[in-house]
Amino acid sequence: MIELGTQSDIKLINEEGLRNDGRKFNELRPIRIEVGVLNRADGSAYIEWGGNKVLVAVYGPREAFPKHTQNPSRAIINARYNMAAFSVDERKRPGPDRRAIEISKVISEALEVAVFTEQFPRTSIDVYIEVLQADAGTRIAGLTAASVALVDAGIPMKDMVVGCAAGKIDGKVVLDLNKEEDNFGQADLPMAIIPRTDEIVLLQMDGNFSREELEQAVELSKKAATYISNLQREALMAKYKSQESEKEGERSE
Ligand code: ADP
Repeated sequence: MIELGTQSDIKLINEEGLRNDGRKFNELRPIRIEVGVLNRADGSAYIEWGGNKVLVAVYGPREAFPKHTQNPSRAIINARYNMAAFSVDERKRPGPDRRAIEISKVISEALEVAVFTEQFPRTSIDVYIEVLQADAGTRIAGLTAASVALVDAGIPMKDMVVGCAAGKIDGKVVLDLNKEEDNFGQADLPMAIIPRTDEIVLLQMDGNFSREELEQAVELSKKAATYISNLQREALMAKYKSQESEKEGERSE
């Protein structure tokens, strides 16, 4: 019989203080963001964040349907988080489950703080978040890409929302847990920030931290958010630069 590891017998940080994937305590997994990857959506983005691969499509603002969902004073944001059946090791049963419903709700609420929803009464802004490959941290990867896709759709916002997580493994507070760390660590704290206003728009805790550890975790994520926010901007610039050079190419022909 194969014994599954327990919290105590799996070492996640070695003698040199490095994690099993070679990262330091304050190091993110590699992140790559691409904008405008879908032709039919109003806005779209694709993110690779460590082993996570997430695609986001935005539609709207468009008339909210059914009509009774309309809010006469603002737009409603409908984020729908979905994990593909092939996104995890064991086939995931397709369709929404409690977890997906919860994640969709917290992502919608986080985005609502950033978007100027009052400019679009009676409409909905639909944000489809499709997790193609999951390796822990999919909600924050999805949220980070969703903000970029909203900008790509031309939707006015205070600033892009940035997702990030910190956690606790082998009793130490570290940034951005991967799947192994999430499974065998002691705590995970996904959060989302609006850098311009310094608002925290999502904060969830799994496991437990001391007050001091919690502060350290928030601090680590806040620092990382500045870096991730720049990646979002660079991804948008890259799209519009390549469009510009295409247009120039056409003009000179
Ligand atoms: P997040 O992906 O935001 O960290 P969780 O903490 O709920 O959300 O999940 C951590 C990881 O556990 C996911 O990224 C995924 O790799 C895995 N996971 C979640 N749900 C399932 C599932 N139904 N089947 C298999 N693996 C799952």
